[in-house]
Amino acid sequence: MDNLDRFGRRITYLRISVTDRCNFRCIYCMPPGGVPWRPHAEILRYEEIVRLVRAAATLGIRKVRLTGGEPLVRKGLPDLVRELSRIPGIEEVVMTTNGALLSEHAEALARAGLSRVNVSLDTLRPERFREITRLGRLKDVWEGIRAAREVGLVPIKLNAVILRGVNEDEVAELAALARQGFSVRFIEWMPLGSVGEDFRRRFVPGGEIRARVEERLGPLVPLRREGPARVFALPGGGEVGFITAISAPFCSSCNRMRVTADGKLRPCLLSPVELDLKGALRAGASQGELVRLLAEGIKRKPFSHGATEAVPHDREMSEIGG
Ligand code: SAM
Ligand code: SF4
Repeated sequence: MDNLDRFGRRITYLRISVTDRCNFRCIYCMPPGGVPWRPHAEILRYEEIVRLVRAAATLGIRKVRLTGGEPLVRKGLPDLVRELSRIPGIEEVVMTTNGALLSEHAEALARAGLSRVNVSLDTLRPERFREITRLGRLKDVWEGIRAAREVGLVPIKLNAVILRGVNEDEVAELAALARQGFSVRFIEWMPLGSVGEDFRRRFVPGGEIRARVEERLGPLVPLRREGPARVFALPGGGEVGFITAISAPFCSSCNRMRVTADGKLRPCLLSPVELDLKGALRAGASQGELVRLLAEGIKRKPFSHGATEAVPHDREMSEIGG
C-alpha cells in the first residue's frame, strides 16, 4: 500500500474540515440562512482526527491543512495542532481561515506548531466585505492578519474568490497586496451546493482575472505550478496565483484528499465519492484498517471532475472543507 493513485499522482496532502460551522455566511459558500449545523456527535473528535492523520502519515501524507467551516470557531484548535505537528512524517500543519478570530489565537497556534495560514480576503472595502461575508468585519480580519505576521505564521496567502458584479473591479488592488509580502491567490468560483442559476451570471474565469490584473499592474511572468495554482511574478514585486478549477482544471497535478467535518474521506472535492472514516473509527478500526481505507480512497481518486455542468451539487463548500 502506498500513496500513488491509478494515474501516477502521489497523494501527500490531506485537508481536514474540523467543523461545518462558521461565523460568516459568504455569498459564494452558503445560502443566506446558512446550512443546518450537524450535531456535535456527528463531527470527528480531535482524538479521531489524530488517529486518522497517524494512519495517513504512514501512507505518505506529509502536509495537513485544517479548514472548515471556520476552523477557529472550534474550541481548543491549538491542542489539535500540537498533536498533529508531533506525528512522525507530518512535515507541515497549516490552516485556512476567514481571519475573524485569528488575532485571538495566532500566538497559541504558532506555539502549538502551526506553520502558516491562508486567509480569505475578497475585498479591501469594509462595506463590500460585509455584503460578501454577510456577518464579517474587515477590520477584524486585518487585525488577524497582522497578528499572524507578528508571530511568524508566514508567508501568508490571501485567497480571493472573484464574482462578477461583486468584486471583479478590485482584482488589481487585491493583486497589489503581493507587493506587501503576501502571496495572493485568485480562486474561480466553484458551483458547489445550492448556487444554481447564479453561477452563470457571477462566474469570472481566471483568464479574465489575469487580464484585469495585467491591464492595471503590467505583464505577469510565469514562475511555477504550485498544487492547483499557476503562480506568476508581479511587476514591482511579489507573486500572484490563479486557481482555475473550472476553466482550466489541474487534475493531473492534484496531490490531495479531503476529510469532511462528519468524517468522510472525499478523494476529489468535486466528485461525490466518499468513504466512511468515522464509521470505521467508531467501530474500533485498527490503524492497519484505517490505512487500508485511506489507501482505497487514493485508488478511487478520479482523474477529472469534468466541467461545470457535470459537477455534483451534493454538499456546500463549508461542509467539505474548501
Ligand atoms: N472559513 C475558512 C475560510 O473562509 O478561509 C475556511 C473554509 S473556506 C470553505 C476555504 C476556502 O474556500 C476559502 O478561501 C473560500 O473563499 C473558498 N470557497 C468557499 N466556497 C467556494 C466556492 N464555492 N468556490 C470557490 N472557493 C470557495
Ligand atoms: Fe465561512 Fe469560509 Fe464559507 Fe466564508 S468561505 S462562509 S468564512 S466557510
